[in-house]
Amino acid sequence: MYSHVYDALGFSQLGLDDEKSRRIILDVLDLVTQGLSSKPDLETVLRRIRRFKPQVNELISLRLLELVEKPTREQLEFIIYNGGRAVVNEVSKLYKLAREYGREDLISALQYAWSKFGIRSPVQCPKCGFNSIMPDYSCFVCGAVVGEKYIREALGFSEKLRLFIETGSVSELRVAVERGYVLLGEDGVHHPLYKPPKPTLLFQVYLKPGEISTIIQEIDNREQPF
Ligand SMILES: [Zn+2]
Repeated sequence: MYSHVYDALGFSQLGLDDEKSRRIILDVLDLVTQGLSSKPDLETVLRRIRRFKPQVNELISLRLLELVEKPTREQLEFIIYNGGRAVVNEVSKLYKLAREYGREDLISALQYAWSKFGIRSPVQCPKCGFNSIMPDYSCFVCGAVVGEKYIREALGFSEKLRLFIETGSVSELRVAVERGYVLLGEDGVHHPLYKPPKPTLLFQVYLKPGEISTIIQEIDNREQPF
């Protein structure tokens, strides 16, 4: 059974030692035979491996990440192309390795996996190109840190602030002035106490003196008695 499954999974390409291969294959067998009442024959096992290919490959990638300290080129390729969600937690490590091996194609594949399964940020990192700048202004993937100017430009802050000043309530504008900052997201500028209805990345952006005066002006205008 073992050697047939080994071949069916294309394990020779991965260059793993015997012990690691066995451990991973046992896990794969566990996965594909779940829910079967009797011990399945080889035919059934191979059929189920084909049927559950994406889950099987994701499991193999996950185990590779756990068992192998530094994946080889071939292992890295397998993990990035087949790992699905498994690549997200290890994205920094995988990115560094892909760079070390000079594999731009793998970096693109990793970017795709990140956009699909990771915490996709509306702000792209200027260094690694992933959409991975987090609200602390640092990149989740490569660790680069960007400045507030970069965040403002990436998300079109001026236009969004203008809309916020036009449409925000007086109390929302007031709290922005009191705190001296607003929350900037892909969908616009929000007041500092804003709680998004669903999880979304919001960046704290400090207001410049000119922006604060504009907001105060707006509050004054609205409070003018007619
Ligand atoms: Zn980066």
